[in-house]
Amino acid sequence: MTSKSKGLCRGAVVAALLTGWTLSAVLPPAAAAAPEGQPAETRRVAVVIDDFGNHMKGTEQMLKLPIPLTAAVMPFLPSTKADAEAAHAAGRDVIVHLPMEPVRGKPSWLGPKAILTSLSDEEIRARVEAAIAEVPHAIGMNNHMGSKATADERVMRIVLQVCKERGLFFLDSRTSHKTVVPKVAQELGVPLLQNDVFLDDVYTHQHVSRQIGVLKGMVAKREKTVVIGHVGPPGLITSGALLAAAPTLQAQARFVRLSELLPPAGGQAAPTPAPK
Ligand SMILES: [Zn+2]
Repeated sequence: MTSKSKGLCRGAVVAALLTGWTLSAVLPPAAAAAPEGQPAETRRVAVVIDDFGNHMKGTEQMLKLPIPLTAAVMPFLPSTKADAEAAHAAGRDVIVHLPMEPVRGKPSWLGPKAILTSLSDEEIRARVEAAIAEVPHAIGMNNHMGSKATADERVMRIVLQVCKERGLFFLDSRTSHKTVVPKVAQELGVPLLQNDVFLDDVYTHQHVSRQIGVLKGMVAKREKTVVIGHVGPPGLITSGALLAAAPTLQAQARFVRLSELLPPAGGQAAPTPAPK
């Protein structure tokens, strides 16, 4: 890859992070609430870090955090394979962070081979299969941006069908309130998880710290919580905030890898059994 195109990829991902989001930072409740006062051991929180794959800021710091986490790695970028290998070697779950078309913004911000609603069925399938092949050790997938694509049933049916064929679960990042992912995943029988809160949609210490507070409030009341942060522009802020908050959060809940929150095989989202 030339230095020019490398710069373009990096710029594309950063631009996507800066401009592509239309979501609110706190998403509507998706997971079953757990009774208040439940012992901490029965509450679980999975931290997912998006946007690995492009030598992003905070990559090393995130992978060194002393808590279980899941690395979402973008395909077709300069450090895609290296980051996936490093995450796997560090005992992290690895998932494909699939670039998908947003409602606002230029598709070119997504980087190479993004899933666009203008593509044919065949091209969508080919791109999803290629993305999975690009990210070693991937056991699941989530969407990068995607507020338009995740609301498109034709597109999601193909994406989720490929996930099913490859044995991957899907984490809906929930960048759209019109997401069709829950409906289609249920129809196809693809194991599904949903994001509950973004930590760093604004890149300031104050905002990330406020979102950590929101996370603590959620974790105290829920059986399982999924939280998404990012390497890249907020990478150092977010990794620092997670490191600082880990002891308090660990008193409230158990950090787990994303795969530990999956519903039992063959079942839909059933009440989570208490861990041993
Ligand atoms: Zn992303």
